[in-house]
Amino acid sequence: MLLIKGLRKSFKTFTLSIDELTIPDNTYVVLLGPSGSGKTTLLRLIAGLEKPDAGSIYIDGRDVTRLPVWKRDIGIVFQNYALYPHLTVFDNIAMPLKNKKMPMAEVKRRVVKMAEILGIADQLEKYPHQLSGGQQQRVALARALVKEPKVLLLDEPLSNIDARLRLEVRGFLKDLQRRLGTTVIHVTHDQEEAMAIGDLLVVINNGRVEEVGPPSQLYTSPRSLFVFNFLGLSNVVPAKLLGLGGEERVGFRPEDVALGNGPYVGRVARVEYLGAYKIVEVEYEGQFIKARAPPDFNIAEGQVVRFDVKKDKVVKFA
Ligand code: ADP
Ligand code: MG
Repeated sequence: MLLIKGLRKSFKTFTLSIDELTIPDNTYVVLLGPSGSGKTTLLRLIAGLEKPDAGSIYIDGRDVTRLPVWKRDIGIVFQNYALYPHLTVFDNIAMPLKNKKMPMAEVKRRVVKMAEILGIADQLEKYPHQLSGGQQQRVALARALVKEPKVLLLDEPLSNIDARLRLEVRGFLKDLQRRLGTTVIHVTHDQEEAMAIGDLLVVINNGRVEEVGPPSQLYTSPRSLFVFNFLGLSNVVPAKLLGLGGEERVGFRPEDVALGNGPYVGRVARVEYLGAYKIVEVEYEGQFIKARAPPDFNIAEGQVVRFDVKKDKVVKFA
């Protein structure tokens, strides 16, 4: 288990501030937030590459805050992989073990085993520039995992992977985590990627943790308005607009709006055809409400349409 307490780190115009965050064992955790929200800074603090201004980090109850990088039992894969270009794949993966002065026979056994797990056992004699982006990533993963760390940190691991391969690599990373039983902290700004792969999401915004929870919980019933907007298409309107009591604003997803029937009458402002479905924007009392409809749903801009909102899906924010 990873525990963070009272962690602070300031740069000129930015402060990362985490009061308390617990990351359970054997979990695929996704740290999700917009660009510049402090994700990389948090990873670097956990790894020991950055010194906090205040606070503590514990791994399995051990205070690692003042330990150097190599004593923290952590593997890290950077966005650009950071492989040594003049070393072979074997030597790249072996580096952390050689640094520990491990006997050569044991180094070899461990490197080959990790290369087999990652499907690069036939690439060990090559140099990084002779490999595809996906293969380079596997080398970086093997190097991070060869010491069998308790926690594996991945900074935007899919951003350099071809869009068509991303789904495959996503599945591969999740399988790898399940197989090794390590805790993974995977950083991304992509909400779809985060929901697809994460057991647990930690949403970070402007240097602070907004909310923590499983993807389905944060998607359907977040406490935070920021999280609701960030995790998918959303409608946020005054509660009064739906005839609900209170002065606050409430949220609902396009898939919880039913078109064709219901108490509300609006006018179609826009229709977007997206292949698997349509997003229909309906103007109602000066608000634009997004509704999700089947791809063959017959509707045109300018048309008057009735709609309903599933009241049990409406979210109130804290
Ligand atoms: P993210 O990974 O979420 O995009 P970062 O953690 O890289 O965000 O950066 C958060 C903020 O901290 C940004 O405004 C960035 O410019 C600033 N920052 C990060 N590292 C440094 C540094 N070494 N010196 C000064 N500012 C930094
Ligand atoms: Mg970053």
